[in-house]
Amino acid sequence: MSLLKIVNYPAPVLLTVGKPVETFDEKLKTFVSDMFETMYEAKGVGLAAPQVAVSSRIFVMDCSGGEDETQKIAAVNPEVVYSEGEQTGDEGCLSFPGIYVPITRNHRAILRAQDVTGNWFELDATELTARCILHETDHCDGIVFLDRMSILKREMAKRKIKRLQKTGKWD
Ligand SMILES: [Zn+2]
Repeated sequence: MSLLKIVNYPAPVLLTVGKPVETFDEKLKTFVSDMFETMYEAKGVGLAAPQVAVSSRIFVMDCSGGEDETQKIAAVNPEVVYSEGEQTGDEGCLSFPGIYVPITRNHRAILRAQDVTGNWFELDATELTARCILHETDHCDGIVFLDRMSILKREMAKRKIKRLQKTGKWD
């Protein structure tokens, strides 16, 4: 296993729609293991392939931070097939280090995806798990959480990013 390099906004790969995965081989399994390792190392609860500069529809997540094996999810070719309700909570993103902004998303989301062997599964989730599914599926569609912020919060976040870029704390 090896750690992957996480790219920061505005890397073009983050703003590009990921390609569907068609081959379910050992290479994919290794890549997904590396993504989990990279996510845990970075203390994140979710990581999508575009964040490690791979333009594919893949994400991993674990809202328990490694505490609960049942929360460990790898989603290939993810799709949110149903969502409802509303929740607002602070959100961060490994491609936006140091930026935490309240974001309103659906309270419930049903994810349909394939596992690393190609089997389809569905996950009906609420609260933090739903938030994470929505955030990571967005990454696979080239959407970053900046796009989900209110205009005011987005401008504040962009100003903070500019400041961090100037001081060399953002690459
Ligand atoms: Zn993210």
